[in-house]
Amino acid sequence: MNLIAPNSSLKPSSGMVDPYGRTITYLRVSVTDRCDLRCFYCMSEDMTFLPKSDLLSLEELDRLCSAFIAKGVRKLRLTGGEPLVRRNVMSLVRSLSRYLQNGALDELTLTTNGSQLEKYAAELADCGVKRINVSLDTLDATKFREITRWGDLNKVLAGIDAAHAAGLKVKINAVALKDLNEDEIPSLMQWAHSKDMDLTLIEVMPMGDIGAGRIDQYVPLSMVRSQLAQKFTLTDLDESSGGPARYVRVSETGGKLGFITPMTHNFCESCNRVRITCTGTIHTCLGHEDASDLRKPLRASIDDGLLNETIDRAIGLKPKGHDFIIDRRHNRPSVSRHMSVTGG
Ligand code: SAM
Ligand code: SF4
Repeated sequence: MNLIAPNSSLKPSSGMVDPYGRTITYLRVSVTDRCDLRCFYCMSEDMTFLPKSDLLSLEELDRLCSAFIAKGVRKLRLTGGEPLVRRNVMSLVRSLSRYLQNGALDELTLTTNGSQLEKYAAELADCGVKRINVSLDTLDATKFREITRWGDLNKVLAGIDAAHAAGLKVKINAVALKDLNEDEIPSLMQWAHSKDMDLTLIEVMPMGDIGAGRIDQYVPLSMVRSQLAQKFTLTDLDESSGGPARYVRVSETGGKLGFITPMTHNFCESCNRVRITCTGTIHTCLGHEDASDLRKPLRASIDDGLLNETIDRAIGLKPKGHDFIIDRRHNRPSVSRHMSVTGG
């Protein structure tokens, strides 16, 4: 399939700057809300997914990404749901890779649960993808099934091996889960670092109704960090990608460990990103209900004028920061959409 849109020769951009002076250079695109797993902190077991007719076509997603790239986006991450379960997703990756070739994009990457990675790793590398994030919360096959409800750990491990064989750099993302993988975090870190993979730990965020309260899942990473500090030498690294993670170097392993702490640390002041969903809704903040529809202006005309105006208006509404809160009084979602809608 040829996805190359008529607007593929990009005009110079004046950039997207929000009301707080933050320049938007990073776009995360959820290409599907569907997933082959049902991680209990992300989805309920009986999730209702969007009707396929609501989804943007791959051609429309390409056009939308192109509009953002023309406006100064330099890094694009595909996510989901599980991006690799979207039918024909590789044709979108292949098509977007033209922006790596012409220098309009610095990076094209994806976040995946790894279950389909064995099949796609070589092709991703061939499209110019250099690094990917794989979400993996445990190395215990039984716990893995418990967390994902039916996932097969071996498939993910085979996917990671295939990614390495294809020359992709892999970062592991793990959500810290009370009474589930808390104890395993040191060994998960040692495993990741022994394979030259950074590990980033994530706090559970109160997104979407999952049929259970969050207080039972939440572990503050400040606690995880102080436990790790009893066994390992952690040295703060002064690097930031504009993202929410704070990194340390672990002397004993030589690897990097990141902490994403939306609940205990406010990372909003340097936020350079916006998110679009598979239905063409833009969310300018993960922790807010803010949303603007881009599908209508996209479909209204083959010209991007109206679309660009709508994007500019949405960027002009980007909130200063998020409102997440989990405590006994607020044991319900702060944000009603699931993480699988915006892709984290
Ligand atoms: N399916 C892909 C995956 O799992 O990597 C991509 C989408 S998934 C929504 C992106 C990331 O969000 C994963 O690392 C997942 O663990 C994380 N996540 C999902 N729900 C979360 C929640 N409520 N709080 C914190 N992280 C969450
Ligand atoms: Fe699927 Fe990723 Fe959500 Fe797990 S975290 S259910 S793999 S979208």
